[in-house]
Amino acid sequence: MAGVKKELRDKGAVVGASSCVRDRERVSSSSAAKEGRQRQPAKQHDVVVKANGAQQTAQSSCQSLDASLEEEVKAFLINEDELHTYDDLTKVSPVTPSTVLKCLQARYSAKVFYTHAGCTLVALNPFQPIPHLYSLDVMKEYHCAPQPQEFKPHIFIVAEEAYRNVQGQVEPTNQSLVVSGESGAGKTWTSRCLMKYYATIAAPSSSQKCQDTVERIERRVLDSNPIMEAFGNASTLRNNNSSRFGKYIQLQLDRSQLLVGASVQTYLLEKTRVAFQAANERNFHIFYQMMKGATEEQRLEWKMQCDRQFNWLPNADKTLEEDCFQETKHALEHLGIDVDVQGQIFRILAGLLNLGNVIFCPSDDESQPCKLKEQSRGFLQNTADLLGVPSEELEACLRLRSLRAGKQSVVLKPCSQAECSVRRDCLAKLIYAHVFDWLVACINKSMCADTSRWCNFIGLLDVYGFECFTSNNLEQLCINYANEKLQQHFVAHYLKAQQEDYVSEGLAWSFIQYQDNQSCLDLIEGSPAGVFSLLNEECRLNRPSDAKQFRMRLEKELSSNACVSWDKFSRQPDFTVLHYAGKVSYQIEGMMEKNKDPVPPELVHLLQQSQDSLLQSFFTEHSTEDSSGRGPSKVVTVVSKFKNSLESLMKILHSTTPHYTRCIKPNPDCRPLTFKKEEVINQLEACGIVETINISAAGFPIRIPYLCFLQRYGLIVNSKMFHRSRGENGLDVDKDTLLREVTRILNAVLRRHSLDPCGDAGGRTRSSMVHCGRTKVFMTHSMLELLEGQRDRE
Ligand code: ATP
Ligand code: MG
Repeated sequence: MAGVKKELRDKGAVVGASSCVRDRERVSSSSAAKEGRQRQPAKQHDVVVKANGAQQTAQSSCQSLDASLEEEVKAFLINEDELHTYDDLTKVSPVTPSTVLKCLQARYSAKVFYTHAGCTLVALNPFQPIPHLYSLDVMKEYHCAPQPQEFKPHIFIVAEEAYRNVQGQVEPTNQSLVVSGESGAGKTWTSRCLMKYYATIAAPSSSQKCQDTVERIERRVLDSNPIMEAFGNASTLRNNNSSRFGKYIQLQLDRSQLLVGASVQTYLLEKTRVAFQAANERNFHIFYQMMKGATEEQRLEWKMQCDRQFNWLPNADKTLEEDCFQETKHALEHLGIDVDVQGQIFRILAGLLNLGNVIFCPSDDESQPCKLKEQSRGFLQNTADLLGVPSEELEACLRLRSLRAGKQSVVLKPCSQAECSVRRDCLAKLIYAHVFDWLVACINKSMCADTSRWCNFIGLLDVYGFECFTSNNLEQLCINYANEKLQQHFVAHYLKAQQEDYVSEGLAWSFIQYQDNQSCLDLIEGSPAGVFSLLNEECRLNRPSDAKQFRMRLEKELSSNACVSWDKFSRQPDFTVLHYAGKVSYQIEGMMEKNKDPVPPELVHLLQQSQDSLLQSFFTEHSTEDSSGRGPSKVVTVVSKFKNSLESLMKILHSTTPHYTRCIKPNPDCRPLTFKKEEVINQLEACGIVETINISAAGFPIRIPYLCFLQRYGLIVNSKMFHRSRGENGLDVDKDTLLREVTRILNAVLRRHSLDPCGDAGGRTRSSMVHCGRTKVFMTHSMLELLEGQRDRE
């Protein structure tokens, strides 16, 4: 069948987004690509006609599949030995969570980790290195193949398709590779793999390489990974190398499709981690790298002696391969951040570690500021030294709050113990977020090519997947909102592309039903009545946060939206959102504070005076308008910032051709080659994979121009035109005659299978499996298989 599809493709037909052919061979050879080539055409007894879920719901005529075909479907379902051979889940029949799960499980057991799901690639995490699967040779094979889609499913197919699409047949189009999945599923791993692919196949040839000391661009692009991972990743309960931020990297290509630069945009760094690590989790890798990799001299300078226990460095005894200080330092150097500047960064970070050991005692008298614990004094001094600020001022900033009294004067109010701790944590988060942003800016400066040098890009999006924990707050709401946006983009893009072709071919557009998540998006981003708007309004009122009151407000304003529900009996005020991926309850307590993310102005003033030029430079532009009366404070809330950055991202995505990869984590413990059904089924539901398959399989993924159709299938009805079309003089008939002949062939095949060949007003065949358009036959894979089967029999 692969050969059939190739033959059709060569003749200008569109044959699905991917190779959808059942493959009987096991995947055990060292080269995945080679195996793809050895694929045998499917024999007649392989033919399975699907009763696809979407088609069933969309069109009742699908139920007219005859009994013998139904039997065949059932026979297939119980033939579990063959499940692993399904390279495309749209071919599994019927498409249900359970059949999809079985198929993926069978493939995983056969060590086949990639499977197409129509227009999406599903990647199962093996949790162990798979020799040769990503080798240079395999990259080259996929890159050089005339039809890489016909090889085994692989992330390189997606990579190569995007690379070829960039040049586009009509005009060049930018591409986006969207990689999603839950924590530990393999998103970052996949993104790295894609970057390596492009750094290999799109690298300038040796004659074009820079001869000077400047590092080559592909090296710099790859070096951005260890840096961003050192500063933005951490070991969590779910992944030892969990990315605590989202990122979108654009690989810039010149006219010759060579990689000439890159730029990166990051989203929502989890900065709270610097000052708070949940039980059995760790801080960002960089702190452990410093602790383990520093020389004696550096330890002394950074006041990080081995015998010190740092509160913000839990689980330091856990050894991870990510604790590689040398690699981070080399990468920084390659990106042009010299040893002196590196020293400045590490001093600042060491300052933060010392700051974590500054603890306050409760104060007996409220009018008096609470005191520092005696053992903390040394750490406070260390922090002040490392951050280049006077220790008395640092202490004052942590313990006293300035308040406006009248028009001119400012009074200092002592802070409670809890307030002091909040201010300390806030200082750490503020500095860390600036260090991270500064590094990203440096990376961009080093990688980004001049706009005159590049004309197109391939974007790689590695974002956090849908999250649902026992306790969810603003972070999860933002993350799940981003996932809703991406899902909407996916559905809209895919359906739009199909729709355009259908409309231009005169087909009625009524056969795909899908879950529209607009009302959930309205619930979150709607204005004026949406969770984000109401939350912002509450924050702007600048009154003490009252979760119960806010919940009442939400309930009143959002009652008409069916995507939200209210549990009257929950112990804490919350609301439940029905996301496309499932229900999530969000706690309201703390949400307002998180959204405001207030920074005490005294802290900013302090850092503006730092003797450390780098630290000081982070705050020169920072607004100092504050409650002390120096100007009106304009609150830019977390959700406003996030919504804006997401909107820009969506704009970019809309202007590109997207390719989707869904990574799946087969077990919660990251154990090699272990497939836990419950774990996988939850993710399949969360990423809407069954719906994705239905969308991909609904409609008619195969499109064949009439003449091409006649040339291939004319022999089924022993068509005279068929013989003429293959003859030396070719075929010279008008469109209507051609269409009549095509209709005759289609109807003959449908009748032979007791399927109803309805016609439209113009007599053109129209069934759930095939439609005749103006110039092409549109059909499902099942119809193609029926035709092929019939052709083989003639
Ligand atoms: P998070 O959302 O927490 O950042 P993630 O989806 O980015 O998670 P990764 O860090 O990419 O997850 O993957 C987790 C681990 O799984 C990797 O560190 C690696 O050990 C393993 N892994 C992922 N994909 C593969 C693969 N294709 N082959 C081998 N190992 C893999
Ligand atoms: Mg990651």
